[in-house]
Amino acid sequence: MANLSLLHSFLPNLAPTPFCSFCPTTHADLFHMAIACPSILKIWESIWEYHFIYTPFTTNGLWLALTCLRFPSHPPYNTSPHQWIPVLSTTLLHIWRAHWAHHFDAVPIRPSIIIQAINAALVTSPMLPITSLDSI
Ligand SMILES: [Zn+2]
Repeated sequence: MANLSLLHSFLPNLAPTPFCSFCPTTHADLFHMAIACPSILKIWESIWEYHFIYTPFTTNGLWLALTCLRFPSHPPYNTSPHQWIPVLSTTLLHIWRAHWAHHFDAVPIRPSIIIQAINAALVTSPMLPITSLDSI
């Protein structure tokens, strides 16, 4: 997974600055681009709170889930990896698409639109049990 800081070091014409386009003093490293940028964080928090209601959201918990497949546990309401993986992978895919559409095509990042697209994709996902999407 590329990040803007890395892209800037190799292809400065494509990425003239290593800083986040929304946070001008923050290096756009992988953690920032994937999780911590405020508009991205809003998406993760919304998706997480809806799909994993019994597991408190933390950026560290999300980072470990994305990078190590270590999913947070919150007994007695543990969530199966069969629910974690499709939700996290679908969310990351949509965030990544939105990020690069913004970077290369100046498409604004609108968290509410992206959240709708994620949930719409999850409704048709064969990987996710229907019961977790009942109220969408
Ligand atoms: Zn940012």
